[in-house]
Amino acid sequence: MTTTEWAGAAAIVDGPGGYTGIEATPEWADEVRRLARARNATVLAHNYQLPAIQDVADHVGDSLALSRIAAEAEEGTIVFCGVHFMAETAKILSPDKTVLIPDERAGCSLADSINADQLREWKAEHPDAVVVSYVNTTAEVKGLTDICCTSSNAVDVVASIDPDREVLFLPDQFLGAHVKRVTGRENIHIWAGECHVHAGINGDELTAKAKAHPDADLFVHPECGCATSALYLAGEGFVPDDKVKILSTGGMIDAARETGAKQVLVATEVGMLHQLRKAAPGIDFQAVNDRASCPYMKMITPAALLRCLQEGKDEVHVAPDVAERARLSVQRMIAIGNPGGGE
Ligand code: SF4
Repeated sequence: MTTTEWAGAAAIVDGPGGYTGIEATPEWADEVRRLARARNATVLAHNYQLPAIQDVADHVGDSLALSRIAAEAEEGTIVFCGVHFMAETAKILSPDKTVLIPDERAGCSLADSINADQLREWKAEHPDAVVVSYVNTTAEVKGLTDICCTSSNAVDVVASIDPDREVLFLPDQFLGAHVKRVTGRENIHIWAGECHVHAGINGDELTAKAKAHPDADLFVHPECGCATSALYLAGEGFVPDDKVKILSTGGMIDAARETGAKQVLVATEVGMLHQLRKAAPGIDFQAVNDRASCPYMKMITPAALLRCLQEGKDEVHVAPDVAERARLSVQRMIAIGNPGGGE
């Protein structure tokens, strides 16, 4: 079958919310796999992608794990089904490969909360400070960063810095507050960014859900900008300690298989539920906030993926000098503590 023989492909429509017009049928999945082979591409899907995208991908995981898979892949082309800063990180770690994202409009409100000019200005106000950036940042911001961090190693990264040096921590204010509380460090300045998509995972909602389901475990995914507010609230005692499990993606799936609980409340982006339900079908997984769905992640539609493989678009470019500086900050991150998997 050739591309033109598959009549369904003609139905792709480009609209303000992304590409639509294609259903995720078995024929679509066959065509995606055929085109990926023809393009010598591997398809990577973030855990928060639509279930159909996760199911058709060669690998599913968190952003850092996927970037590492991209760097090691034999294929010359990486199709990154996730948001733009993640595809940029893959490009930073695999500069010689072609990195495609099915829709370059898939941004991230947290990464967009600080740009390179704002960071330059902030650094000028604190010229001796060490800049620590969470991975949810653009390549340009990473290029102005001393050490990147994930939620898993943010505390270790900040603790590794000379206590007499000021620290600029960005962009997530909840992760920053968590790090400040744990390290007890006073000379840390925190950028007031947040993932507005998940502002709904708040203390009242967590408390209400935990009270309504007293026997349920509560899984909080720390490597997700969207869950850092939950991480902060759990630390503040809004919910009982013994019920809260702060887990990476892999840890969450392992814990789902091992827990004795019949019900688990999940405080993160709702796309994670798909992998959890596949891993432990006997458990009733419920979202703490079922509106916690990232519209940027969901811009990677079946139509967008098909178009990407047909046309070789959208290609992700990072200027070589920016990529080189950004790579250093990412490599420092990987070397400290347990970096986990990024968002
Ligand atoms: S869920 Fe929030 S932090 Fe994650 S990609 Fe979407 S906007 Fe960014």
